[in-house]
Amino acid sequence: MLVEGAILDRDGARPAAVRIMDGRVVEVGQRGTVSRRSDERKVEGIVIPAPINGHTHLGDAVSTREPPAGPVESLVAAPDGYKFRLLAETTRAAKLRAVRAALRRMDADGTRAVVDFREEGLRGIQLLRSAARRSPVRTVILGRPLRRPIDRAELDAVVAAGDGVGLSSARDETPETRRSVADACRHAGKYFALHASEAVREPPETYLDPRPDLLVHLAEAAPDDLRAVADAGVRVVVCPRSNALFGRQPDLAGMEAAGVHMLLGTDNAMFHAPSIWRELEFAYVGTRLKGRPASAAFLARAVLVEPYDWLHEPDAASIAVGTPATPLVLRLPADDPAYQVVTRTTAHVIVRPARSRLEETGSEDR
Ligand SMILES: [Zn+2]
Repeated sequence: MLVEGAILDRDGARPAAVRIMDGRVVEVGQRGTVSRRSDERKVEGIVIPAPINGHTHLGDAVSTREPPAGPVESLVAAPDGYKFRLLAETTRAAKLRAVRAALRRMDADGTRAVVDFREEGLRGIQLLRSAARRSPVRTVILGRPLRRPIDRAELDAVVAAGDGVGLSSARDETPETRRSVADACRHAGKYFALHASEAVREPPETYLDPRPDLLVHLAEAAPDDLRAVADAGVRVVVCPRSNALFGRQPDLAGMEAAGVHMLLGTDNAMFHAPSIWRELEFAYVGTRLKGRPASAAFLARAVLVEPYDWLHEPDAASIAVGTPATPLVLRLPADDPAYQVVTRTTAHVIVRPARSRLEETGSEDR
């Protein structure tokens, strides 16, 4: 396939012609300088590295009805919140079905990988591993030990089974718990992550010490907090739709100004479809409502570039010959790529070069 238009990747946006074969970039040239082969399809569009969803709770996909009204804590707090009661009542088979459906939805959107906070201890991690086994979406699992005070054997088992630990929030845990979890993750070479300043502001010292690999939300963070996070070099995942549901809004323009390395996530699957494109558009529109717009380029980086850096795979965010990038082609006008990708992408305009065949989603070309 030959794409005439533009590239949007870690080096920003630029006009280009890109040849893609078997799901890999094999040639990149100036627009109009790469000639189409006789057996080749040519389209106009924007080539991007496949996006990554930086934060989900896919287990929540078992919820199919509108959640009850109430503060976020009453819905998602362990052990008696709505979602934990629902998880306890749902069979393993039903959970597997729901999580697999969510992963299929993400795959249809072109999502390359997802970073999931998995509840239910060791069994929760094992369930998600089973559900994700045949999915093309790479699933990074941050599990959670259940016992308090920390049970060393359980913590080690959780750390060994997953890709790290994702804690509920800084203020829900003692400093000793945070320290032992962080040490165990560090020792095993795995990720230590936690929610922070979601419903109320927490002081940065509670979530920056021990230093995490990833923070989620910071919806209530003050400008000084954002600077402290940026100075510490800790990446942050924001989930604007999930926060908006409870009347909150992370300051994305403030994060951009402070130099925060930001990712975007769709959070609880019981609140929203795990569509990173819908999250991206909402994030953009939301910053306009706040009167402090974040740039489209900053938002695009949050799904196309920053997550690859977090995964220590920076080259996968480069659309160039020989990189491990999984290219996606979006059939959108190529004049202002970041703006187009952030505001216009739907499943209907993705043309995805798969391993050996061309796979299209949506209805536009059928
Ligand atoms: Zn979360």
